[in-house]
Amino acid sequence: MATAEGFELVRVRLPLAEAWASGAGSFSHRDSLLVRAVLRGPAGEAEGWGECPALPAPSYSSEYTEEAARVSERFLVPVLLGAELSSAREVAGALSHVKGHPMAKTAFEAAVIDAELRAEGVSMASYLARASELALPPVPAVPAGVTVGLAGHLGQLLDEVERYVVQGYRSVKLKISPALGPPPHVALGAVRERWPEVVLAADANGAYEGLSLDEAASQLSALDGLGLACIEQPLGEDDLVGHARLARLIRTPVCLDEALGSHGLVEAALRLGACSVVNVKAGRLGGYLGAVRVHDLCARREVALRLGGMVETGVARAANVALGSLAGFNLPGDLSATGRFFVEDLAGPLTLQADGTIAVPTGAGSGVEVDRGAIDRAACWRRFFRAG
Ligand code: MG
Repeated sequence: MATAEGFELVRVRLPLAEAWASGAGSFSHRDSLLVRAVLRGPAGEAEGWGECPALPAPSYSSEYTEEAARVSERFLVPVLLGAELSSAREVAGALSHVKGHPMAKTAFEAAVIDAELRAEGVSMASYLARASELALPPVPAVPAGVTVGLAGHLGQLLDEVERYVVQGYRSVKLKISPALGPPPHVALGAVRERWPEVVLAADANGAYEGLSLDEAASQLSALDGLGLACIEQPLGEDDLVGHARLARLIRTPVCLDEALGSHGLVEAALRLGACSVVNVKAGRLGGYLGAVRVHDLCARREVALRLGGMVETGVARAANVALGSLAGFNLPGDLSATGRFFVEDLAGPLTLQADGTIAVPTGAGSGVEVDRGAIDRAACWRRFFRAG
């Protein structure tokens, strides 16, 4: 049994290798919040790291990094230091009376899981598989997938996709918008024609929200013949009924991301027929163990599952690879190798293998090494909060 001795909040600012643009905002530096949990158990002190995947601005959801740091300092840290936690399984429950802020909460749960498992010598993939009611072992490698942001023009987009395909990525998701970048049917059509074998998907981040349903359906029907794995979140985040109608008007499977902020919303969306593919993000669902519950719900109903990403550092991407190793994930997700986003990452390595997969780390905790020097260089604010 371990108790929380303290939590360190570290705000980092990391330059991206290339500026990022999507319907959910654009940025050239990743402003992120890391959480370091220090636990004390019978074997001594153990530490673990978690990452809040909130974006620098409230452009994906209402959460953003600066606010996540503030709510963490003011509410989440005091609750957890006062809760006398004995296990990572208690983190989400302890934080449940603080409403909202799922991404900030996720960072704490991930840090405590990482610390606990490093002390026990257990990998996060095994831990999450044991938490799943499927009772199946984690897969040893997950298909890598790259998400390509909105490009200024088609040539630029094709050059970028080519770079990733040459590196070995076999799954490509394009950010699309009816208003920005090349027309989606042109961009996706060109990628499909040039690389007929890649698993191709599209993500609108709600960009079709302002159109009438008929207009959105008409524009998105133009993608029907391209064999897309799915189109993610075409309409607004609260429009489950609209998505249910749209899903009947187009042939491409509809996937929901922003709309699915809880287990209950996933269940509602499935009952309505609002999606046939579910994007799972621990941060959106308030933690990795909550994400396992959503995985189980979908796997039980044989709903297609993909794991989503938030342009995270290696700290969160390693945990995401562990989550993505659960047996129910049957579509390639947004799991990219070290080097995809950052000039200097904060944890790794996650290596793209010759068969287009990433090996699931088998070491204790998230199974990757946190680069303390890189964190020190990227840190622009840090503060340690000690119990008692
Ligand atoms: Mg998405």
